[in-house]
Amino acid sequence: MSVCDTANMIDLRSDTVTRPTHAMRAAMASADVGDDVFGDDPSVNRLQQQLAEKTGHEAGLFFPSGTQSNLAALMAHCGRGEEFVIGGLGHSFKYEAGGAAVLGSLWPQPLDYEPDGSLDLRKVEALIKPDDAHFARTRLLVLENTQNGRVLPLTYIKEAAGFARRHGLGIHLDGARVFNAAVKLGVPVREITQHFDSVSICLSKGLGCPVGTVLVGKRELIQKAHRARKILGGGLRQAGILAAAGLYALEHHVERLAEDHANAQALAEGLAQIKQIKLDRTAVQTNMLFLEIQPQHAQPLAEHLRQAGILILPGVRLRLVTHLDVSAEDVRRVIAAFQGYFAGR
Ligand SMILES: *Cc1c(COP(=O)(O)O)cnc(C)c1O
Repeated sequence: MSVCDTANMIDLRSDTVTRPTHAMRAAMASADVGDDVFGDDPSVNRLQQQLAEKTGHEAGLFFPSGTQSNLAALMAHCGRGEEFVIGGLGHSFKYEAGGAAVLGSLWPQPLDYEPDGSLDLRKVEALIKPDDAHFARTRLLVLENTQNGRVLPLTYIKEAAGFARRHGLGIHLDGARVFNAAVKLGVPVREITQHFDSVSICLSKGLGCPVGTVLVGKRELIQKAHRARKILGGGLRQAGILAAAGLYALEHHVERLAEDHANAQALAEGLAQIKQIKLDRTAVQTNMLFLEIQPQHAQPLAEHLRQAGILILPGVRLRLVTHLDVSAEDVRRVIAAFQGYFAGR
């Protein structure tokens, strides 16, 4: 990645790029802390408890990253040589460097997502292995919400939870952006999360924290994940400095996710007018939009935008992400810059 000063740019690469606000930094600076490996950090404990309550779960556990939280959850659900069913584009399958296999000795069974981001339960059922020494034992179903910005329907989630129970599987949600889903549906996040055995929730995406993910679940499962976290090097000391950002975000940055969704909508509407861009704006549900351009535009467009102070990840299929540091005015500037590039081409 090139070295550049991104602080004053409109950065659409991801919602992980947000910088903590002054108020969040102030909350971090004045956090009560203790040694969290001894369970002594009051801010960490408060954050874990608050998120457990909000999500309808018994316990929570703070992690430095979503990758580690997902892996610890997989290790808590599955033993060595056991199998989990997951989307082929699922984060824990594709984007976590194979950690479940490398560090967890777990066997992933990937399956294509349906157009709405769900996994077809009949297809999942066909993948569940019979009790036979030839096969890895199928233990867990992993869903993602939001999945590429798509919100899973509540009816589907209930169905999937019932399905998992009937088949003796655990069910984990990679809910990195589950608050986006809840805000989009206009329901308390518990309406989504209570149906799962465990949920991993990122604080460092749309919620605007510099670091942090919380895993919630039943006390016994969280105890297993706590052991896995130690193995993975995730036992932190005065982590209350980080947890304070999470507590601040839960209070101030959840409802405002609706602004990110509105900005993504506005951006999609503007870009859909440009004839060289292929974009289905009805597919935009939360803070992400996807569009396609001809290959010859991939690099020059990214360069043109960069000159205009806008950062994207270059490609033929572009993902643009709105967040705390992208305003409605920024969206107008982005649309104008895209129009400027494509005018006369
Ligand atoms: C970002 C993300 C994670 C975790 O990523 P980290 O960068 O490790 O915090 C997990 N799942 C999904 C769907 C994500 O988008």
